[in-house]
Amino acid sequence: MQQVDKDSIVFRRTNGAMVKISGGALRVLNRFRQLLPNQAEAGGMLLGRLIDGTEDVVVDEVTVPVARDRRHRFSFFREKDTAQKHVVNVWEKSSHTRNYLGEWHSHPEDDPSPSGPDLSNWRRIVRESQFEQGSLAFLIVGRISVRAWELGKVARSLRAMTIENKSRRDKYRKDSNE
Ligand SMILES: [Zn+2]
Repeated sequence: MQQVDKDSIVFRRTNGAMVKISGGALRVLNRFRQLLPNQAEAGGMLLGRLIDGTEDVVVDEVTVPVARDRRHRFSFFREKDTAQKHVVNVWEKSSHTRNYLGEWHSHPEDDPSPSGPDLSNWRRIVRESQFEQGSLAFLIVGRISVRAWELGKVARSLRAMTIENKSRRDKYRKDSNE
């Protein structure tokens, strides 16, 4: 079933599959853009659907920081136990339609790119997490753009995704200048 969600953004993986971020999830991410100088990094999990018969995924929900997460201007560490419980709860409550799809965090830079610690953290997450699909998505929410990367279970090289709907990107840029 194709739902119309014109506020979503779509990232294209190197194998052609798409990672769609729903409008609802995107609105939550936008709240955590580090536009103010004293705003700390934020982060959480990407949860959503695996689309049958394809490698496409749709991020329907993003989790937000909890009190036990350690948030600083230039770093973010997610508290693991709470997060793991949340994944299990959501999975059960959603009749197994909300899967763990990856992670997001914010950066105080316009067009974000992963730091060294981000990369080693992402590699560890791929190694230690349980997930059905071939790879996890990692989003960084910058002050202007949102960028996405994928890391596979087998080939653990980081691959940047390309943003698909340019109009949405333009809209996003315009919104951020308001
Ligand atoms: Zn980072």
